[in-house]
Amino acid sequence: MRTVDATLEPNAIAPVMNPNRVFLSPPHLSGLEEQYVANAFATNWITPLGPHVDEFEKEFAAAIGAEHAVALSSGTAAVHLALLLAGVGPGDEVLVSTLTFVASVNPILYLGATPVFIDSDRASWNMDPALLEEALDVRARRGRLPRAVVVVHLYGQSADLDAIAAVCARYGVALIEDAAEALGATYRGRAPGTTGITGVFSFNGNKIITTGGGGMLVSADRSLIAHARKLATQARDPAPHYEHSEMGFNYRLSNVLAAIGRGQLRVLSERVAARRRNFAFYSAALGDMPGIEFMPEAPWGTHARWLTTLTIDPDEFGADTETVRLALEAEGIEARPVWKPMHLQPLYAHAPVVGGAIANDLFARGLCIPSGSNLTEIDRERVAAVVRRTSTRGGSRHAIAGDRT
Ligand SMILES: *Cc1c(COP(=O)(O)O)cnc(C)c1O
Repeated sequence: MRTVDATLEPNAIAPVMNPNRVFLSPPHLSGLEEQYVANAFATNWITPLGPHVDEFEKEFAAAIGAEHAVALSSGTAAVHLALLLAGVGPGDEVLVSTLTFVASVNPILYLGATPVFIDSDRASWNMDPALLEEALDVRARRGRLPRAVVVVHLYGQSADLDAIAAVCARYGVALIEDAAEALGATYRGRAPGTTGITGVFSFNGNKIITTGGGGMLVSADRSLIAHARKLATQARDPAPHYEHSEMGFNYRLSNVLAAIGRGQLRVLSERVAARRRNFAFYSAALGDMPGIEFMPEAPWGTHARWLTTLTIDPDEFGADTETVRLALEAEGIEARPVWKPMHLQPLYAHAPVVGGAIANDLFARGLCIPSGSNLTEIDRERVAAVVRRTSTRGGSRHAIAGDRT
């Protein structure tokens, strides 16, 4: 038998990364994670389930003011279970924000249901409550209501939850909140994700806090979360042998990843503050440029500014969004277009859409710029300098520090 050398050369395991590249939203460790992970190793809890999972759930619920929480392998898994628990099945319709990441929508297909896309409003870039009402009204008249509504809290900002929850309540339709991008945001003092029957969070590597991949489903309904926990663990019935009376999934978060999450959760408010500082910097550095508008902060709460996003009017700015993105890319700076609306995706070309012009415009002119909580002052200045000099209108009016071209 060959023995394994336990001390690998660092070069043998280190991935190659460009140290000068500025990423859109990279992970940002606090240093606390390693203590929790070391504990998981020391106690041999290298398992799905374990004490860190239990504690992470409790601490997460407490942090956002949710009653109950179950830690899952991804935010997508949380959306899937939320829909299942709302009773979504083959032939049902589910109303969902069109301006979102595909993970909000694919689980609707997993269940054989049909998404119906709802456009955004200008004030928040999130689901327009008036269009939601219109869609529900039409369906109520036809005598066939959708099984659920999935509202997405985009880029760190809550949708108009009171208005959306009131419309859902009036028609008796279940509200699911996809708060994957909005951990740390507020809506009239509450956390997005705690108003609907269930709320979904993600700890993917690019989110406000990360476990390197993971998710959370929260609810005020204890039995709903207990059922989610069972479904996520292959739906084992209580018995000494393996007994199954319904179809389950392998969707639990591992104990090692939950340990990372506990370390991340302790610095959540600092992470949100840092992202908001990025936004404040960019809006001061670029807010005077003709044709640039930032995603507004709606009057009902605090925008966590997961990503700083802006729109560019090509006529006023003198260059379009893609030109700016390519200019940033040429400097090793990662920027991305705003989410391509789901109703424009080939996968969903046949799904109904209510409105769509606002999401289309935000996609055509919108750009997400580097927003990590570990972004340095120098990097932010580099980003702003490239954007400024790409403009052919008035870009040099106020040269800022870092723009030495
Ligand atoms: C990230 C994200 C999710 C879930 O993503 P996972 O990578 O599966 O954790 C869901 N919805 C939105 C809007 C997201 O941005």
